[in-house]
Amino acid sequence: MTTENRSLYSQLPATDRLLRDPLFSPLLTRFGHSRVVDILRQLLDEAREAIRENHMLPDWCDDWLNAASERLALDEQSALRPVFNLSGTVLHSNLGRALQSEAAIEAVAQVMRSPVTLEYDLDGAGRGHRDRALAALLCRITGAEDACIVNNNAAAVLLMLAATAPGKEVVVSRGELVEIGGAFRIPDVMRQAGCILHEIGTTNRTHPKDYRNAVNENTGLLMKVHTSNYSIQGFTTSVDEATLAELGRELDIPVVADLGSGTLVDLSEYGLPKEPTPQEMIAAGVSLVSFSGDKLLGGPQAGIIVGKRELIARIQQHPLKRALRVDKMTLAALDATLRLYLHPEKLRESLPTLRLLTRPAEEITAQAERLLPLLAERYPEFDVRLAPCESQIGSGSLPVNRLPGAALTLTPRDGRGSRLDALAAQWRALPVPIIGRIGDGSLWLDLRCLEDESRFLEMVLK
Ligand SMILES: *Cc1c(COP(=O)(O)O)cnc(C)c1O
Repeated sequence: MTTENRSLYSQLPATDRLLRDPLFSPLLTRFGHSRVVDILRQLLDEAREAIRENHMLPDWCDDWLNAASERLALDEQSALRPVFNLSGTVLHSNLGRALQSEAAIEAVAQVMRSPVTLEYDLDGAGRGHRDRALAALLCRITGAEDACIVNNNAAAVLLMLAATAPGKEVVVSRGELVEIGGAFRIPDVMRQAGCILHEIGTTNRTHPKDYRNAVNENTGLLMKVHTSNYSIQGFTTSVDEATLAELGRELDIPVVADLGSGTLVDLSEYGLPKEPTPQEMIAAGVSLVSFSGDKLLGGPQAGIIVGKRELIARIQQHPLKRALRVDKMTLAALDATLRLYLHPEKLRESLPTLRLLTRPAEEITAQAERLLPLLAERYPEFDVRLAPCESQIGSGSLPVNRLPGAALTLTPRDGRGSRLDALAAQWRALPVPIIGRIGDGSLWLDLRCLEDESRFLEMVLK
């Protein structure tokens, strides 16, 4: 050990002395003795390493109280950090998909605080059925006979297949053998559910006769899967749900549909591209329809199955239902979200997903114009510009349709890509991190989802 290092080591305080220091007592009260000791040991280790490696004390050694406070505050941060989603994807799966409505947030808080009639029938003082109240609401909105709610749409598809066609063949067009991302692929789910996949048609063309020819004594279901994250264009044909439902009735085989995203309104009325709705499927005679709660519907993560009473009864009784059921918080959020659909005139205001998807391009552009000079002044090493952009809906909804809006782009004046990465990293390290997108040598901030402008400015002008 060099003499120089020895004198540096001797400047390190003893943990005991720091803990006895009255200045540390608020920290001890707030975080507890053992956590403060842990953090101090960690800091001391780092200081010793800095002496060993660099023959110097780290800067923060001037103020151990401040260093410990900062470290403890960092340690206190939740694993789920709120961020600004300026990525250009509204329903971003990695950022938690749909933002919940105020009504849903209040409803969740309420059921968290209080015992609730989750499986308790107030009339008979007996045990009710967990999905009962929501099933009535879902039937009212979709026209179905009954409903079942599970953890997500992947679970809904698995359960729907396992409960209604165990050991049987399920007929699906080759154009609809979807992979959603993660490990959700229709052929794999089929196997896990104990069903036998019977592929028909070709990637681009499937006809009614393909379904008819595939049917045999072991056919359990005819299935449609919505191609929600891709589109097949050109020389194509597929069999729509109404035609398939008619065929199913004729052959006495249930027809099921995985709708993917589950919008409950005609999106074209809001100036958005049309997506099929569960109510249209039910009206067309489809026996069971499944969809997500947190895609276009704008509610919590959930999988919803609506359809025929006797098929839903089989699903409710299947052991997997118990494994895949949702908790009271999900049910409360979903209940509050569905109730917003009973007042469609207010939906654009009350449902954040719809509000963000329908934000007019002019409004986003005006916001960009307001923010541009402030960012340009704060980041002189970047050329800050307003650029028209097209946001994505996300989560495999309406894959080919884009929403016109506006972005701010920051381009390094010296053309160095490392500056972009550094800026992106700096923004990710903010108390409320800003998530943008790097493309074409610039950092893009798509402003479609920027609602709390003053908090954003607080972060970005820091
Ligand atoms: C998104 C999607 C799923 C999976 O839904 P999750 O709610 O994410 O589990 C399944 N099928 C289709 C067609 C989808 O679009």
